[in-house]
Amino acid sequence: MGEHPPLHGPARPEWICLACGDPWPCRMRKRQLKELCRCDVRLLRNYMTPYLRDARTEITDLSPDEITERFTGWCARPLGRWTTDEAPGGGTDGRSTLPG
Ligand SMILES: [Zn+2]
Repeated sequence: MGEHPPLHGPARPEWICLACGDPWPCRMRKRQLKELCRCDVRLLRNYMTPYLRDARTEITDLSPDEITERFTGWCARPLGRWTTDEAPGGGTDGRSTLPG
């Protein structure tokens, strides 16, 4: 008792995740929201819009386009994109694909 699951909420005005320290919305938060909204893009965008509005005034080192992409760009993308880590170099070492 007393153990709370980490809440992947934003620490503002830095907009980093309170739980994992990644730029918010972090991967886990996106996944949670996708599940919450059942991948309904419109619902997700509605949910993110107030955050986006605030972030535009608080995040100063990104362009408005970059902020929009970060906060709502992921809504329309399939969840599968985040299930595997994207390697920046694009190197593939052995494929082990499991069904499911
Ligand atoms: Zn997080």
